[in-house]
Amino acid sequence: MQNRDAVFLEDFCPKLHDRRWRKSLHSFTGKSCIYCGKHSESIDHILPRSRGGLSVTENCVPACLSCNGEKSDQEAFTWYRTQSFYDPRRAMAIRAWVDGDLRLALRLLQWVKPKRINEKDSISQNSNQDFLLKAA
Ligand SMILES: [Zn+2]
Repeated sequence: MQNRDAVFLEDFCPKLHDRRWRKSLHSFTGKSCIYCGKHSESIDHILPRSRGGLSVTENCVPACLSCNGEKSDQEAFTWYRTQSFYDPRRAMAIRAWVDGDLRLALRLLQWVKPKRINEKDSISQNSNQDFLLKAA
């Protein structure tokens, strides 16, 4: 009896592999568009397929439909620089992504995300306890 191990389902089913791969790309950025930060609904080829861009992680980024559609078959960096939401930190992140340094890319994207301002905490600090003691 031959024991053949490690037969990967994905080898027989490229579509399944493709779907998983796309999902993982989206999860890298927390399902946000690498260009503008909106919800990512598609995968964009940085170098368009029409220009020989490959469907590999280094060339594929999560993008929202509007960015993906507007960019069309332009080269990502050229297109991105002309956008109103252009952010140099995002551009650096995309560059790192292309270079295959996803960790750096994600760190840069983290940096772009606006910090939440916590102002409401300072207001509710006035002690209600004092008031309750006096009233008793
Ligand atoms: Zn977008």
